[in-house]
Amino acid sequence: MTEISTNLEKAKVILKSDELVAIPTETVYGLAANAFSENAVKKIFALKNRPAFNPLIVHIASISDLDKIAKNVTPLAMKLAEAFWPGPLTLLLEKKSIISDCVTAGNTTVAVRIPNHPLTLKLLSELPFPLAAPSANPFMSISPTNPQHVKNYFDGKLKFILDGGSCIDGIESTIIGFKDNQAVLYREGSCEIAELEKIAGILLKPEKTATTIEAPGMLKKHYAPKTKLVVTTNISESIQEHFGKKIGVLSFIALETFPEVYIQKHLSSGNSLKEAATNLYSTLIELDSLHLDLIIAEYMPDSGLGNTINDRLERASSS
Ligand code: AMP
Ligand code: MG
Repeated sequence: MTEISTNLEKAKVILKSDELVAIPTETVYGLAANAFSENAVKKIFALKNRPAFNPLIVHIASISDLDKIAKNVTPLAMKLAEAFWPGPLTLLLEKKSIISDCVTAGNTTVAVRIPNHPLTLKLLSELPFPLAAPSANPFMSISPTNPQHVKNYFDGKLKFILDGGSCIDGIESTIIGFKDNQAVLYREGSCEIAELEKIAGILLKPEKTATTIEAPGMLKKHYAPKTKLVVTTNISESIQEHFGKKIGVLSFIALETFPEVYIQKHLSSGNSLKEAATNLYSTLIELDSLHLDLIIAEYMPDSGLGNTINDRLERASSS
């Protein structure tokens, strides 16, 4: 049985014995292991069935821990860290050798952030090592935003879930790397681009080379429900196209009732993209449990977090 509990002491004991613990963050739940232990980190890949080429994010308690794992941190990276940590911003920094290739998938950079969740911050500050943690879902499925989601994914295979309630932001962190001292956007996420650009200037797009698989975490079919999903700007037209199917509709705000639809869900009760982001994955997970033929999702307004949600919906829709 997998235990869901707020017992920090127990979480510490398990992590110190090289086992995994699911941890709450403001973005999504993470599947955490001692980042300095290759043995522990390998268990993350095994449990998630995650390919070894997909690197992990290392979580630290404070900026002063940064120089234990990263080197040559530039003034721009430091400015971003100071502005957004703790928070949903991951920085790709030159790794120190204490971080194994297993964590970074052979990259010379390590992904680092300070998560903004009181329980996990306390845990990190009381551990003698940082925590490597990707999202606590099997490879290719929807990221979990509450303890029950994690339990449903890994029941019996994971000892302990640290219960920090539901995730406030609900979407993964924004990932920023650096090229020639300019900031490069590797993954859209909960930290808004407009806010980042106030400090870093216009964000560059990552270079595509012949040898790079799409930036890890940006795999096309990612964050996907088992149920087929289409994204549209015209819900009622799409419903007509799929007449006769068992359909779930996912919209930004409450829409008129469509009698031919099995279930309708909206992400925000009041025009808030922030609320929509918070609710996105839990609503998708709920719809995915209903044995629908099809989920028809509406594009969000294309600004700020709306773009991030649309990015996730498009990935969820690719097959
Ligand atoms: P997850 O927490 O499940 O979203 O997984 C962490 C994600 O961080 C990966 O899928 C990658 O997109 C990203 N990441 C971690 N380390 C690196 C790195 N060194 N270079 C590029 N992306 C990275
Ligand atoms: Mg993930």
